[in-house]
Amino acid sequence: MCFNIVKCGERMKIKDILAERPVTVSFEVFPPKQWDKIENTKAVVRALSTAQPSFMSVTYGAAGTSSGFTQEIANEIEGCGITALSHLTCLTSTRDKIHEVVGTLAENHIDNILALRGDIPEGFTFPDEQYFEHACQLVDEIKRIGDFCIGGACYPEMHPESKDRVEDMAYLKYKVDCGLDFLTSQMFFDNEKFLDFVELCRIKGIDVPIIAGIMPITNAKQIRRSVALSNCSVPKKFYKIMDRFGEDDASMKQAGIIYATEQIIDLMANGIDHIHIYTMNKPDVAISIMNGLSEIISYHG
Ligand code: FAD
Repeated sequence: MCFNIVKCGERMKIKDILAERPVTVSFEVFPPKQWDKIENTKAVVRALSTAQPSFMSVTYGAAGTSSGFTQEIANEIEGCGITALSHLTCLTSTRDKIHEVVGTLAENHIDNILALRGDIPEGFTFPDEQYFEHACQLVDEIKRIGDFCIGGACYPEMHPESKDRVEDMAYLKYKVDCGLDFLTSQMFFDNEKFLDFVELCRIKGIDVPIIAGIMPITNAKQIRRSVALSNCSVPKKFYKIMDRFGEDDASMKQAGIIYATEQIIDLMANGIDHIHIYTMNKPDVAISIMNGLSEIISYHG
């Protein structure tokens, strides 16, 4: 049965999925670091596909050296009848490498790209003009190469490198105006931060769909790592959950799934219709969340 997949077996652009479906819930997976683990990740994709996400994204190594892994997983996603969104970072790739990767995506009928800069490694300097310093340049280049649906990243609590909110919003607006079809947000745990951010985007004239990125936290170590990497704030309520349940893995996992599910329901109740779950390649977690939303998705999705 094909129920939450928008059109089985048909190539779809994510902008059309977002426009046609009142509610979407999509998943992110990451490729393995080593080729000999590729079959394990493909099995993760197949397990996740049983929850019928609206589309599935696959991340890209910032160094660009494992682009083939991202491509292979994107192909597996499409093979499951689900639209794939392939991430692409530009920081350490020459213009030629970008052309090669985007060309391979086109040959494999992947129509959707999340255009990203990547995190700057310590001590890194841009070698020459063959490299792109910002995602907006990558967006320009992809548009020159072909007819792709292009998404970009946004940060409800500001990108850590931005001087202030004014600068952050100005560059975001510029990036969108370069030709983005949608934005996907960095994870956040406080819905008010996201709702304020969306309002600010609309005031600034950023009118593309903004997909809310939700990271289910299923162990206490994960939140420390995630917060350190993303710079996002954690509400007192979540710290209390960690203090109370963090020591027992099963309890913390259950509490984390319920927190993420409640976060999504609250967002939807506040008019946020597009949700992206950072699955961390854990199908059981993503499927539990989808089960918690089943009636909402079947009625509104
Ligand atoms: P940019 O849009 O270039 O912004 C980076 C900083 O530069 C911001 O402070 C911005 O305000 C500023 N800026 C933008 N344009 C200009 C300009 N023209 N002049 C001066 N300053 C400017 N990383 C990976 O390695 N692989 C992934 O697959 C991946 N997936 C991600 C998915 C999502 C949804 C998100 C939110 C992040 C992801 N990242 C990934 C992390 C991302 O690469 C980093 O957050 C990176 O530091 C910024 O990428 P960006 O595309 O937002 O960069």
